[in-house]
Amino acid sequence: MNKNLQFHLRAEEMPTHWYNLLPDFPEPMPPPLHPGTKQPVGLADMTAIFPENLVMQEMSPDRYIEIPQEVREVYALYRPTPLLRAVRLEKTLQTPAHIYYKYEGVSPAGSHKPNTAIPQAYYNKLAGTKRLATETGAGQWGSSLAMACSVFGLECNIYMVKVSFHQKPYRKLLMQTYGATVHASPSTETEFGRKVLAADPDSNGSLGIAISEAIEDTVKTPGTKYALGSVLNHVCLHQSVIGEETLRQMAMAGESPDVIFGCAGGGSNFAGIAFPFVREKIAGRAKCRIVGVEPASCPSLTKGELRYDFGDTAETTPLMMMYTLGHQFMPPSIHAGGLRYHGMAPMVSHCKKLGLIEAVAVPQMKVFAAGVLFARSEGLVPAPESSHAIAAVIDEAIRCREENQKRVLVFNLSGNGLLDLAAYESYLTGKMHETGNDD
Ligand SMILES: *Cc1c(COP(=O)(O)O)cnc(C)c1O
Repeated sequence: MNKNLQFHLRAEEMPTHWYNLLPDFPEPMPPPLHPGTKQPVGLADMTAIFPENLVMQEMSPDRYIEIPQEVREVYALYRPTPLLRAVRLEKTLQTPAHIYYKYEGVSPAGSHKPNTAIPQAYYNKLAGTKRLATETGAGQWGSSLAMACSVFGLECNIYMVKVSFHQKPYRKLLMQTYGATVHASPSTETEFGRKVLAADPDSNGSLGIAISEAIEDTVKTPGTKYALGSVLNHVCLHQSVIGEETLRQMAMAGESPDVIFGCAGGGSNFAGIAFPFVREKIAGRAKCRIVGVEPASCPSLTKGELRYDFGDTAETTPLMMMYTLGHQFMPPSIHAGGLRYHGMAPMVSHCKKLGLIEAVAVPQMKVFAAGVLFARSEGLVPAPESSHAIAAVIDEAIRCREENQKRVLVFNLSGNGLLDLAAYESYLTGKMHETGNDD
């Protein structure tokens, strides 16, 4: 074991390829279906909202896909990201466990999301797209796509879930700083938004509603394509750089993980750290447990049903086979806005079905207690989403102490919480409830 606390790859050691888990599944994944015909969707169905080059990636049977040079040059703004050992947290918990975290909060937007925003903007630019429309929850995806659009010279139009629009004004300002246009969703910009507002003028919004608005905008505005920050296969693919780097960094640390954790909203940062290790498990080269951690108030993996469901509220997306709480599910307005999604990435869902991964759910107060403990031990303030993984890691580290077992725990710290301090305020001042917002 290496006694260093930081494990850095050199610039030239950045992965040159994304890893696609699809061809390695021991059992094929059920395809997305056209909601009308119930037949597998074809290229033509998808190219109405996505450029063809990304649709090809979405359906690609190739195990490795080369990362274009132009994308690697932008990744180089913050990649490779560091792996750190949290020895102070280990001490605080008096655990024999070794705790490592892969830190994706060093990206310009502060989360893992630029890993897919950058290639999505790049492939759209290549395909002649002029403008991208998207939705955002807490604003991490919106700010990541806004950043990527400014790099590649695309317009960016964002529907931001209304509760976050008001709770997180700084993320909105970040998007505007990058040159994007931001609407509170449900908005009056789209027919669907107006319909939701007519039924419920005080609607807090949801990711499902915002996705429907962004898709309607895409279909109705020439030169526009849609970009999604999670859930889809090509998003999980792009995020695989996280796990590929982590594999090499754990080798530098001279240890191999016993348990890997990632928080799971739509599933992409979890997929990012997990899938390269799932590959190793399937190939018999690794034995680790891999755990997705979700909010108790939006528990798609632990309490949802595995079935075909829509990705949005207005029923405009293809039907995807996934763990879902139902596309009409309205999650309470917890502070981890990035985890308020009714479904789970089909690839992550398939992993769960095949027993390649597990899932746990944690309640909000416990999540914030974990985030604060982490900040006070390690100095880094995690995003509330990432604190879900930390809460599960702390539980496991305590079990290690009770069983007197040294296990190696690795988690993805998907983003920093510097723009989430209002949520910390709510916790620190005792205003936070277990579900929903403050009083
Ligand atoms: C968006 C976000 C998440 C949740 O999205 P996934 O697709 O599940 O990864 C988690 N952490 C942070 C910091 C985020 O911004």
